[in-house]
Amino acid sequence: MFVLLRRNGVLAATPKLCRISTRLLSSGTATDRSEHFDIIIGGGGLVGTTLAAALAKNATFATKRVLLLEGAPEFKGFNASGPYQNRVSAINKNSIELFKSIEVWPLIEAARFKSVKQMQVWESHSDALIHFQDNNFASDVACIIENDLILDAVYTRLKEATNVQVLNKARIESVRLPKDAQANTNTSELKLQDGRSFTCDLLIGADGANSIVRKEMGVDVFSLNYERMGLVATLDLSDDGGDNSVAFQRFLPNGPVALLPLSPKQSSLVWSTSVSHAKQLQALPPAEFVDALNEAFCRQYPRVELADKALQALNAFFGHTSAQNQLQYPPRVTGVQTGSRATFPLGFLHASSYVTSGAALVGDAAHRVHPLAGQGVNLGFSDVRYLVDTLATAAYAGFKLGDKQHLLKYERQCLTKNVPIMIGVHGLHTLYSTEFSPVVLLRSLGLQLTQNLPPIKNMFMRGAMG
Ligand SMILES: Cc1cc2nc3c(=O)[nH]c(=O)nc-3n(C[C@H](O)[C@H](O)[C@H](O)COP(=O)(O)OP(=O)(O)OC[C@H]3O[C@@H](n4cnc5c(N)ncnc54)[C@H](O)[C@@H]3O)c2cc1C
Repeated sequence: MFVLLRRNGVLAATPKLCRISTRLLSSGTATDRSEHFDIIIGGGGLVGTTLAAALAKNATFATKRVLLLEGAPEFKGFNASGPYQNRVSAINKNSIELFKSIEVWPLIEAARFKSVKQMQVWESHSDALIHFQDNNFASDVACIIENDLILDAVYTRLKEATNVQVLNKARIESVRLPKDAQANTNTSELKLQDGRSFTCDLLIGADGANSIVRKEMGVDVFSLNYERMGLVATLDLSDDGGDNSVAFQRFLPNGPVALLPLSPKQSSLVWSTSVSHAKQLQALPPAEFVDALNEAFCRQYPRVELADKALQALNAFFGHTSAQNQLQYPPRVTGVQTGSRATFPLGFLHASSYVTSGAALVGDAAHRVHPLAGQGVNLGFSDVRYLVDTLATAAYAGFKLGDKQHLLKYERQCLTKNVPIMIGVHGLHTLYSTEFSPVVLLRSLGLQLTQNLPPIKNMFMRGAMG
């Protein structure tokens, strides 16, 4: 389903006396009183909190006041000796560099994470497969980290910060942004559901795919509902999986099924499939669910003979054995952790612009991709790096933080990086959503050629790693 949205709502300021009132609104009525911050981040998910911690760590912002607003109640923390969480992310090298630069990485390292040494991706209608391993790019493919652990580590750093204030149960209800022509005089304003209101020089929308900040910016949005759900779960594995450092992803007719290692005996599942199938899988008794999952990794689907023959010829040309001989089956799944199955709708979204005077977008508020390549939050972390650098340069040079000319530099960097990755991930989803034989042939050849040509393989890996 294709949806093109545009919204330009302007909200009238409501006279309101705030709990902490420090300054008169420049654009509201004379009775409006709102606390003013240099930067307000709307949304404290993985990207918003990491942005707040990165601003806290950067010396340029030492005298700036930053407010992080999160609609949900206070984060409860993370227990590294408890059961594995069902929400995990494959975190790439660039995101780990960001974590290191804000001193979050030592906290994650001291808790738990799993390095992925190799990744195997394969077809269900032909013998095509590809292996990515650390010798293709001289370090781990990725690290699998629980989302709550990342949040916990980032919150630990935020608590130490003197220039960042965090407000929970602070749902933004309305936003008013300065008009371009008045950008040098006006501030951005926002009101919470509980009636409190704030003003700031720069409002950053980190409020996810349904961003209220983005809607108020009035930018065009290209969005697709994939009509697929991502089913996640924490799985127990049989003993024969060795140290379980290989990530597996098999493209099935309804979407990819992936196992992301967590420990020698456990992996995390991301199974993208039709909405009805996901619901059905979620409702299955545990033993039947485990059977369905093991079957998904080894079931024989109708072969596209021409693709198999073409692959044999291709492998012979490169002097390799048949791809099927190189196929490594994932460790057998023996159980699913009680209560760990959950489903999430999957879609594509891209904002035509990430900035306007007085506001900028980061993370899923600006872009949302299919999880098949593990890129979503990594792109968000890359936005964080670009935005902090851009703002630091602007602040150092004495420009207003909400100055659109500066923010446009941030947008350019993001678009250059994000758009090719987003097109690539969407292209893969589309390519693997059909059983049409010529497409199976083409995609199988593409996958196998990439496997056989290390320079192309390395190029893809470098792209995926940021
Ligand atoms: C099944 C699945 C697997 C995935 N796996 C990976 C992976 O392996 N690697 C990867 O890179 N990415 C992955 N992703 C994508 C990744 O999870 C997202 O890109 C990431 O969580 C987006 O983070 P965010 O902070 O931008 O947005 P969100 O996580 O959506 O956070 C937005 C925050 O804003 C708050 N908020 C919303 N509205 C308001 C409001 N009005 N006022 C105040 N607060 C508000 C919300 O409460 C929330 O905390 C996966 C996604 C799915 C669905």
